[in-house]
Amino acid sequence: MKVKLLVAQMYVRICSLIIVAFFSTNLLATEGMYIPALLESIEDEMRLMGLKLSAEDIYSVNQSSLKDAIAQFGGGCTSELISSQGLLLTNHHCGYSQIQSHSSVENNLLKEGFWAQSLKDELPNPGLTATFIVRMEDVTEALIKGITDDLAPSRRKELLEANRKSLIDAAVDGTAHEAFIRPFNYGNSYFMIVTKTYRDVRLVGAPPSAIGKYGGDTDNWMWPRHTGDFSIFRIYADENNQPAAYSESNRPYEPERHLHISLDGVEEGDFTMVYGFPGSTQQYITAEAVDYIVNESNPMRIEFRETSLGVIDAAMQSSEEIHIQYAAKQSRISNAYKKWIGQNQGLIELNALDKRWELQRGYRKMAEIRQNQNYVHAIDTLGALEQQIKDYRKAREVFIEYYFYGPEVYSFAKNFEPLIEDYAQLEQDGKLDEAIEKLRQASEAHFKNYHLPTDKDIFANLTKLYLDHMPVELTPEIFVEYASKNNWNGMQMADNLYNATAFARLEDVSKLLDKPSARAFEKLAKDPAYVIANAMYDGYIRLVRPTYESLQQEIDASMKVYMQGLMEIFPNRNYWPDANSTLRLTYGKVEGSSPIDGIAYKYYTTAEGILQKYNTGLEDYDLPEKLRVLLENRAYKQYAHHTGELMVCFTGSNHTTGGNSGSPALNASGHLVGLNFDRSWESTMSDIYFAPERCRNIMVDIRYILWVIDVYAGAERLINEMTLVKGVGQEQPEREPLQELEKGAKQG
Ligand code: ASP
Repeated sequence: MKVKLLVAQMYVRICSLIIVAFFSTNLLATEGMYIPALLESIEDEMRLMGLKLSAEDIYSVNQSSLKDAIAQFGGGCTSELISSQGLLLTNHHCGYSQIQSHSSVENNLLKEGFWAQSLKDELPNPGLTATFIVRMEDVTEALIKGITDDLAPSRRKELLEANRKSLIDAAVDGTAHEAFIRPFNYGNSYFMIVTKTYRDVRLVGAPPSAIGKYGGDTDNWMWPRHTGDFSIFRIYADENNQPAAYSESNRPYEPERHLHISLDGVEEGDFTMVYGFPGSTQQYITAEAVDYIVNESNPMRIEFRETSLGVIDAAMQSSEEIHIQYAAKQSRISNAYKKWIGQNQGLIELNALDKRWELQRGYRKMAEIRQNQNYVHAIDTLGALEQQIKDYRKAREVFIEYYFYGPEVYSFAKNFEPLIEDYAQLEQDGKLDEAIEKLRQASEAHFKNYHLPTDKDIFANLTKLYLDHMPVELTPEIFVEYASKNNWNGMQMADNLYNATAFARLEDVSKLLDKPSARAFEKLAKDPAYVIANAMYDGYIRLVRPTYESLQQEIDASMKVYMQGLMEIFPNRNYWPDANSTLRLTYGKVEGSSPIDGIAYKYYTTAEGILQKYNTGLEDYDLPEKLRVLLENRAYKQYAHHTGELMVCFTGSNHTTGGNSGSPALNASGHLVGLNFDRSWESTMSDIYFAPERCRNIMVDIRYILWVIDVYAGAERLINEMTLVKGVGQEQPEREPLQELEKGAKQG
């Protein structure tokens, strides 16, 4: 009962604190990623800034609302419906691995772009999904029903699980929906998210990388930007318009809602909102945790990635085939690599660590003055826990960098585990053929994008880093043995392993799969790649994960109390729940910034800048002839701004993060004006420390996207599907006299 009450009070408090904070300072107005189901508490503030819609127009469970047009794309990015026939818009970098998977030297879609001429030319993408939110519901009370402070931890866990299951079962009963429950604010509240997932999502169009990835790694995370970072997919459904696995007979999904596209463009100071699935932020972590990120984690991860990029970039330069094979992997590695560099720079430049210490000291002092031992204890405990978890955190990160972003021979070998360990059982159950077929497909997909010398080189270089950084007592024993047998020399280990393994060449693997036998698979149990992959994996599960997870749980429990304390002690700060891959709305204004003394960034770029960059001769700024000619001729059609320019990208003060890639940027009337895809260099620390004066998100102007589709690609059939609007919404009457609200705000 006590817990229930506290949570309910917290909720009321969070909502009212948000309002207080918003009305107390304008500077903070754009920080935050808000839960769409709770928008009413900030509706007035958004309307003050220019919004012409109600909270219910943005998120509703009673009527169709903007949320029905927003889908999580493939579990990581965001996408939005832009036609009544299921056309889905997202970033080029979000569809990158799909575009790459359809590419070959003869038919290089990454390089040339792709435009399906008709529905039947649209390309299926196994495994790709689009997930819509049916509803989000605060289930805190129901989830903790019956849980009291005196409950034994095991009973508490059981009860929580039973409550969770009954909530989810009731939510999805008799529907094709799925549901999950996620903690917010370190478990100060819980939301159940009910979703509907479409599983037949086909590639419809993609510009060449010279548009979609224009500027490459040189421009990534930078402003000024000229990237047409978009690609187009289409959701297909069964004959009842319901989700279905891929089938030729599926037809374009007909949604209840799709976004209308504004041809009006944006002006400085315009209201904008970005609606999508931000992945994760760490806005409230302690100074000790920030210290670890800045001084240990980021430098270590940067070193890993810089090393593998050194190998991959050189290999990609050397051949077009390797270029295609490693394009998606390279992007995956380099994106976070560059962000971490910017993040550290920003955190250091803005003294984020000192400020976090200051906050913590103030908090502790105030908690002592108030004699709130709970709050004092929480921050002291966090300090101690952060010390204890350090090695485990590091071991986990080293494992992730080495095993998941390093040499691929490990994870490929691990795929064979069922056949190596359970051959007889699979045979007995009649499942052998199926298992072999699965491996055959996995092998084909793997070797299509695999270059042995490159993988081996990555192995040699990253193994050295692994040995340098992995805390000794957390290194798997078998790996230590292998390393010591090879004189702790990464190159020697690589030579021996790649010579001996059966998992580095398609011919070896095909031989095995073509004539499978129990003996042959049994022998693979001693294959060095398989042995070490297992050692790595098991080592993590056995030596690292248990302690890491239990310490992390303790940290979360203390963070929960610390958060309560922060909100009570400093009620005028702006509080919002950290991003956790759930649907959020963030809002702000179209605006530039001046993050460096003497430099003012404009809020937009134009097609002229594409040509200027091309003229520098840098490879990342190369352009297809056709694009150059069209731009030189200023063939902008109705997509030009009223100034006559073709606007390419613009910036805004919307608080975004990874996962917001592909999110729609909407104007005050909820019309699509841009596609979010990045943040500026000086904003890369915003996941940990948001600085309103310099943090800007970067969006492609929707008119540039339309121009590429229409004028560059000639894909008129797609434009014809869309709902383009001009001058709409500007004449809408306000719902309430804004002056009244404004007065209230000034008084607040
Ligand atoms: N470009 C970013 C990403 O790929 C989006 C962001 O973090 O703002 O994650």
